[in-house]
Amino acid sequence: MSNQSRIRLEQVTKRWGASTAVDNISFDVTPGQFVILLGPSGCGKSTTLRMIAGLEEASSGQVHIGERDVTHLPPGDRGLSMVFQSYALFPHLSVADNIVFGLRSRKVPKAERRERLNKVAELVDLTDYLDRKPAQLSGGQRQRVALARSIISEHPICLMDEPLSNLDARLRSDMRREIKALQSRLNMTVIYVTHDQVEAMSMGDRVILMQHGTIVQDGTPDELYNRPASAFAASFIGSPAMNLLPLVAGANGAVIEGEPGTSVAPLEAAGGQLGIRPEDIELHPANSPGVPATVISEEYLGADTIAYVAVGAHTLRVRLNGRPLLTQPACRLYWAPEKIHLFDANGQRRHDTLQEDPSAAYRRVPRPPAVGSFQH
Ligand code: ADP
Ligand code: MG
Repeated sequence: MSNQSRIRLEQVTKRWGASTAVDNISFDVTPGQFVILLGPSGCGKSTTLRMIAGLEEASSGQVHIGERDVTHLPPGDRGLSMVFQSYALFPHLSVADNIVFGLRSRKVPKAERRERLNKVAELVDLTDYLDRKPAQLSGGQRQRVALARSIISEHPICLMDEPLSNLDARLRSDMRREIKALQSRLNMTVIYVTHDQVEAMSMGDRVILMQHGTIVQDGTPDELYNRPASAFAASFIGSPAMNLLPLVAGANGAVIEGEPGTSVAPLEAAGGQLGIRPEDIELHPANSPGVPATVISEEYLGADTIAYVAVGAHTLRVRLNGRPLLTQPACRLYWAPEKIHLFDANGQRRHDTLQEDPSAAYRRVPRPPAVGSFQH
């Protein structure tokens, strides 16, 4: 595939007065990639996207598209299209006129306009709605008009800023799959902004997680889930969120605050945090080996149940299949030692051998027998 839809940011910064919205970020998007900019509100996602589009000018750094340095080019010269959260449709124009608006202003001949319109309308399933006004459409249909307007431009790059956030949950999930399918069918390069980790995980080939204007982690959805770079990344990906527990020094290793009897990590991990995902914890009867705990409450969700369980001074979320019958509050928790994540006092992932050391005391907790009796 040609390089013309490669996007490269080099040490890009955006300041407004004394505040820095985007702080010296760099990344390189391969043609045909679906890249997510993910992060909480205010972390600089839209500003980054708008600098790529040319709607904001970078305070410093360069933006390259293909072989060109586009840092100072106006939006119209950058060869890309953009889909906004607000859709930005013209209310007085029909669906058809909204879709071909850009082609008309670029003086594309009428016959070609019509041909491209028909093709794109079919692609996004709007053929029967071309004469309507935007007010006569549902939210999902309006979103498809905005998508169609972007696709018809035939630019190889599409930038999307929270395009699904106005839709209800069911429609969002349909549209996620539609957008992903369109992107791979048309082989577009997409940068997609969202604060929703489900969208990021399900659509992205690659997720760039941002916090306070900087990149926290840049990797595949798998990497973000399995090897979060920081406690922030760990808590942002996955639902319910990963449990994060402060570790203090115990007699035999690091222990969870308030539960001095059970070492759960090597002593060197004390002062940092232990991360363990709700889905990686097993609940066993109180006479089993494992970490002593007390069930406080349960949230039944249909396919699974989230149990809230106290360990020492902290409460953990535990994800259980179906609707287990928890007959008594006292229990033990078990997790496979390789499932833990260790973060240092600054919340950064510990990239040492702590987690892999098979001789550590905490790894010698025997696995309790299969769950069964406890839940009936
Ligand atoms: P996100 O899209 O991740 O929610 P934004 O990129 O919109 O975040 O905003 C990042 C930061 O920049 C925020 O603190 C926001 O208030 C600030 N900001 C955004 N646009 C402007 C602007 N035009 N003038 C001043 N500050 C802005
Ligand atoms: Mg935004």
